[in-house]
Amino acid sequence: MPIATVNPANGETLRTFDELGADGIERCLAAAVSAFRRYRTTDLPERARLMSRAADLLEEDQETIARTMTTEMGKPLAAARAEAAKCVKAMRWYAGHAEILLADEYPSDTEVKDSGAARARVHYRPLGAVLAVMPWNFPLWQVVRFAAPALMAGNVGLLKHASNVPQTALYLEDLFRRAGYPEGCFQTLLVGSRAVEGILRDPRVAAATLTGSEPAGRSVAAIAGDEIKKTVLELGGSDPYVVMPSADLDRAVRTAVTARVQNNGQSCIAAKRFIVHTDVYDHFAEGFTARMAALTVGDPMADTTDVGPLASEQGRADLEELVDDAVRRGAAALCGGGRPKGLDAGWFYEPTVLAGITPDMRIHHEEAFGPVATLYRVGGLDEAVELANDTPFGLSSNVWTRDPGEQERFARDIEAGGVFFNGMTASHPALPFGGVKRSGYGRELSGHGIREFCNITTVWHG
Ligand code: NAP
Repeated sequence: MPIATVNPANGETLRTFDELGADGIERCLAAAVSAFRRYRTTDLPERARLMSRAADLLEEDQETIARTMTTEMGKPLAAARAEAAKCVKAMRWYAGHAEILLADEYPSDTEVKDSGAARARVHYRPLGAVLAVMPWNFPLWQVVRFAAPALMAGNVGLLKHASNVPQTALYLEDLFRRAGYPEGCFQTLLVGSRAVEGILRDPRVAAATLTGSEPAGRSVAAIAGDEIKKTVLELGGSDPYVVMPSADLDRAVRTAVTARVQNNGQSCIAAKRFIVHTDVYDHFAEGFTARMAALTVGDPMADTTDVGPLASEQGRADLEELVDDAVRRGAAALCGGGRPKGLDAGWFYEPTVLAGITPDMRIHHEEAFGPVATLYRVGGLDEAVELANDTPFGLSSNVWTRDPGEQERFARDIEAGGVFFNGMTASHPALPFGGVKRSGYGRELSGHGIREFCNITTVWHG
């Protein structure tokens, strides 16, 4: 894949970039190691000062970087602005909380004595240079979600961003440089995925985090496993959205549309499978379909647009194959199911609702990365739980019920990294984020996220 900005709204190639060669990669690795040697001992107030400065700069740049993101990957401009604001918030949150999250921990006096020590503590130290392999769908947020905690913990970052968002990738390096981070603390490597193995195997790289697809995650995890290096994987999802009879149905319908089409339907935590109790199925299906069909698809720069293009031609082709396979095997398209008329230049796809899904259809097991919802009818709670878990993924889940007993059951039994009741899944700096099963492992955000790339050191005094 060439490293280039190609506008998905019209297919036009706007800028191409040369890939970094072996010499360039070597320079970056050397700079990262040298930066880590100094940066690892900076105190937390100094790190917080740098992170806060980066947040202020990003806030000033909000409009420019939002336009860059929309141009590179097609998300509606309002969503791009919101993404930048979310990054500012996360950076400030880590600047303000890292000192508490990384404070030394002390076992009780009895436990210390029992271990034979005069005193003992647990101390969080940084690991070193962390390689971040990142996707294009939230091109700023996914990186900041890694970088804010990693830098606050004293690590340094090496970003290998998706090949279709090079300008956003270069902006991030520039942002941290302008904020005053020492040279080499955060570097963007404009390389394709083939270069990842060599970088990851280099002894100067301590660990890796990857947000992306299952095949990419498998490859990075295998190489890191071979090298015995720590990894965090944030992979795909096919989150259930369960609606039970006690739900506030109007809110459930309205939220369902946002939960499915946010980011043009290309979000790992988008609700993808809508599992509706038979008592409220018809009402939900009718309202949901009507709202999906009424969405405005078009130019992502326009304020009136709800759904922009898919980020790549290949992404749209993959989605078309999934839908066509389902329809061929008997699914009914309640709305959409094809390309919108009059938008031929870009990679647009209609908001689509599919009903009559059966396990032989690929879409039952695979992630639909675009504005396509699948609708299921269930007879009761047990069936809803079983269907919610009938997926290789386990990222998050949404459940609409006001019944406390049902809430307990879903919270206990849904196999996912999150269960969101009466609302849609969203991330917040204070709440851990991540999945189980093929959605990956490890956690980002909160105290759990910042400690992923720490050497949790036992300090014992005899
Ligand atoms: P992708 O194709 O896996 O790409 C993600 C990143 O991995 C890119 O930088 C890509 O580089 C690189 N890559 C691809 N194959 C690789 C390999 N074999 N070895 C090393 N690196 C490799 O995924 P995507 O299409 O950009 O993103 C969509 C996927 O990401 C979806 O499945 C989505 O659910 C998932 N996602 C998950 C989360 C989460 O938090 N769990 C968040 C967002 C997205 P190139 O661009 O150069 O190919």
